[in-house]
Amino acid sequence: MIQSRDSGGFFTPGCLLKICGSISPNMPIQDYIGRFAPSPSGALHFGSLVAALGSYLQARSQKGQWLVRMEDIDPPREVPGAASMILQQLEHYGLHWDGSILWQSQRHEAYREALYILQQAGLSYYCTCTRRRIQTLGGIYDGVCRTRHHGSDKAAVRFMQRNPVLEFTDQLRGTLYADTALAREDFIIHRRDGLFAYNLAVVVDDHFQRVSEIVRGADLIEPTVRQISLYQQFGWQIPSYIHLPLALNSQGDKLSKQNHAPALSQGDPRPIIVEALGFLNQDVEDDWADLSLESLLRSAVDNWSLLRVPVNP
Ligand SMILES: [Zn+2]
Repeated sequence: MIQSRDSGGFFTPGCLLKICGSISPNMPIQDYIGRFAPSPSGALHFGSLVAALGSYLQARSQKGQWLVRMEDIDPPREVPGAASMILQQLEHYGLHWDGSILWQSQRHEAYREALYILQQAGLSYYCTCTRRRIQTLGGIYDGVCRTRHHGSDKAAVRFMQRNPVLEFTDQLRGTLYADTALAREDFIIHRRDGLFAYNLAVVVDDHFQRVSEIVRGADLIEPTVRQISLYQQFGWQIPSYIHLPLALNSQGDKLSKQNHAPALSQGDPRPIIVEALGFLNQDVEDDWADLSLESLLRSAVDNWSLLRVPVNP
């Protein structure tokens, strides 16, 4: 396991890099901190509202903080104006966040620092393999570049997976077992095109923001074991996880920006909140139509029961 800077590992008190402090020190997480972390690739739709509302209710019912982080590290996939649209939608639906928004586009120094830590620990390497080659392997990378000692030119950086995590506990679903081949794969942490990979950024930021519990959609179950293995290598406290059911369209596909799920209505937010609460199998006051948005959300916090959330929609 990598020593953290607090235990006198790779970071001396003087700090090796001028970006000292962009990764927060390892302190015990005492209070509940949750978060919603959308990527600005389009407006919020019903499926993303369910994830936002579920994480909001879980945090507020624990008297915790609820943070919003904009995952804008993949410019080719971003839609101009989507980030401000998402924030405006959250406010329209009464989901007010704590503190200021963390923008991943402002966090490159922290990600570079994390890459540096892994590199110094001998836990990363450059890979020049093409997507086509990995396809011929059946989609799972075989680690061939581990011993080839490529330079950084036109190379991705992969995490050297020495201690794969094969299972984790989901607070809603119980023990979840990983696909062993995927869990063992040396996954990419810095892309060949120069962009930081999702798994690295999400772990660095959740640690930085002291997120104690991650509540998100079930489409993100699969990468969780990779993220936990990063926490372990950094020596950071691992948050708890809840993966909410996914809203599906009439064809049975996940509602997503990719399959053109309609953006949330800009009209009265309350019927949509009630629909989302129904999707999460929560009790809703019969007289909700007489309640203000604030009162509706307050009663949703008071009545929130994670035990009632269905595992599948
Ligand atoms: Zn390779």
